[in-house]
Amino acid sequence: MMANYGTPSRTFVSGKGCVIKDDYGNSYLDFLAGIATNVLGHAHPAIVKSVSTQVATLGHVSNFFAHPQGLLLASRLQAMTGDSNSRVFFCNSGAEANEAALKISRRTGRSKIVAAQGSFHGRTMGALSITGQPAKREPFTPLLKGITHVPFGDLAAMRRAVTKRTAMVIVEPIMGEAGVITPEDGYLAGLRLICDQTGALLVFDCVQTGIGRTGQWFGFEHEKVKPDIVTLAKGLGGGLPIGATIAYGSAAQLLLPGDHGTTFGGSPISCAAGNAVLDVILKNKLMQSARSHEKKIKTKISALPGVKEVRGRGLLLGIELESPIAKSVAAALLDSGVIVNAANESTIRIAPPLIVTALQIEKFISLFTKVLKEVHHG
Ligand SMILES: *Cc1c(COP(=O)(O)O)cnc(C)c1O
Repeated sequence: MMANYGTPSRTFVSGKGCVIKDDYGNSYLDFLAGIATNVLGHAHPAIVKSVSTQVATLGHVSNFFAHPQGLLLASRLQAMTGDSNSRVFFCNSGAEANEAALKISRRTGRSKIVAAQGSFHGRTMGALSITGQPAKREPFTPLLKGITHVPFGDLAAMRRAVTKRTAMVIVEPIMGEAGVITPEDGYLAGLRLICDQTGALLVFDCVQTGIGRTGQWFGFEHEKVKPDIVTLAKGLGGGLPIGATIAYGSAAQLLLPGDHGTTFGGSPISCAAGNAVLDVILKNKLMQSARSHEKKIKTKISALPGVKEVRGRGLLLGIELESPIAKSVAAALLDSGVIVNAANESTIRIAPPLIVTALQIEKFISLFTKVLKEVHHG
């Protein structure tokens, strides 16, 4: 394989629930879940059943034709928006979901875009152009023109940057890759106001914060704002590749026949996985449990010496440490059998499967406590 990912430190061969095994037979508590993706953990019976039944029935038909799993999943996503005029475009990944948002925004006749500094929207050239991280962008210039990045959470800066020539404003409701950066309440509603005043489309990139991860379907719902576009991927397929771009109201009419497409997008198999994910989240009340696990983790972990704060919502949490030792802590946790991610020098990100049990949360807290103490005392 190419060198773009660096050399992986482990090879994983199997998993069940929140536990995965490497090729030496060691077990790990998976508190990263394929980067906020495996919402039902590993080998969940509902996904296994839905996907294997679907692949044995109808695997792929292309987007020339409809299929029941796709229609069902689209109608369920539409229902989540609370807008009967919303429409869904299926693709395969988060970057692709944002590419579709970019193309929809071009159909307004405007081309300027405002995004947030530090944001992450994907690695394809369009998605990279709106990503607010210079280190990821600079090797690949020239990128799309007309894009401005303003500080996240700063409504005054946003107001100065957005004009009547702005096609879209895109933000993550919580910046995941940047280290689980949570804006103050009112920020998302403030963005809505700015977009209403200028006619720019408001796009919420919920690729990481969608599908129950934050204790609600979409990561912005605690603010009761209605965006023009929502993008999804990660959790939607519970580990299978699927993304979605959902446009609301008149924005849902902007793409015309022939404007956009993708061969594999919304395949029957990925949609079958998506439908199983939604079934289990509802049936097992996983959004409620995400919120109660959040409270427990925040209370316990933020009281530890060496921890500055615990940010985020539901089961997307950033543990900010007092010193820049996040990479060593993540490595030591891995050696102790816990998978997390160092989102930056001082932040540990956790995004366990939503099916995580109270006992596994306890186990995580105790291992984290032990490892943090050890790394601290070198
Ligand atoms: C992961 C992520 C993406 C990119 O998704 P891919 O499936 O890797 O293309 C885009 N936006 C956000 C907020 C993400 O977390």
